[in-house]
Amino acid sequence: MTSLSLPPTVTIVEVGPRDGFQMEAVFIPTDVKIATINAIAAAGVRKTEATSFVNPKVIPQMRDASDVMRGIARRAGATFTALVPNVRGAEQAVAAGVDAVRQVICVTETYNRRNVGMSVDQSVANLAAIRAAAGSTPVELVIALAFGCPLEGPVEPDAVVRLAGRAIEMGIREISIADSIGLAGPEQVGAMMRLLQHTFGGIAWSLHLHDTRGLGLANVLAGLDQGVTTFDASIGGLGGCPVVPGATGNIATEDLVHMLDGMGIATGIDIEALMHATRLAQAELGRAFPAKVLSAGTTSSVFARAATH
Ligand code: ZN
Repeated sequence: MTSLSLPPTVTIVEVGPRDGFQMEAVFIPTDVKIATINAIAAAGVRKTEATSFVNPKVIPQMRDASDVMRGIARRAGATFTALVPNVRGAEQAVAAGVDAVRQVICVTETYNRRNVGMSVDQSVANLAAIRAAAGSTPVELVIALAFGCPLEGPVEPDAVVRLAGRAIEMGIREISIADSIGLAGPEQVGAMMRLLQHTFGGIAWSLHLHDTRGLGLANVLAGLDQGVTTFDASIGGLGGCPVVPGATGNIATEDLVHMLDGMGIATGIDIEALMHATRLAQAELGRAFPAKVLSAGTTSSVFARAATH
């Protein structure tokens, strides 16, 4: 462990209100979504993916995207992004006041066609159109299935490099590398981030990891060791992925903050306040979420209780 090279601070992008909520079959009332997002920001989360401006017929859960964005209490230091699939979504997102928009492209041709009905080339053209439509609002790219695809199998890291390169050429500066169905281990994550950072300078890379096979936090360590300082995570470990129906949850924000707290890496997030936000959503959805710290409590809380005995 002592040989790991670790950054002093990490930015967590909370994706639960989008990646998590959009997987829920029953409509979550708009005021519950807004209250949860407000509580997330109040806990110190600096960036939250609040919603998705998609066709409401395709994802009815996100049909209140504009109302959610407009209802969030804006506070200093907290920014809000939205996922958009096309120019129309980007225009709506910008009009609703998002701080950035994100588009997802699957690196594998077959899955991208299945997901958005476009070839990868068409999606890259779509990204350029979104960038033009977004004006001064930053556009971020998520490269999905970067570590493997349920239809095409293993993904060559060079394919991820080529897709990232095309986005960088058009001026995209924030790129998230997504292990959308939790296929990667620390070795693959480390090698991928080393390759990308070796190939391109000046890019804000982030990792979007799923804990499908229990390797989520191990993969965070591998990313940290390569100098990655931004990670997507989801309150309670909610979520699947927009690109893979049935995929299990993202790494849980509580578990990630708890690990980083224990390593002395600052996130600006108050974990108890964050768990309050999670419990708002948990009460609405009426079931226990998978985040481990949420049910077990933090190590500090166990020690504090022990001290009173
Ligand atoms: Zn995801």
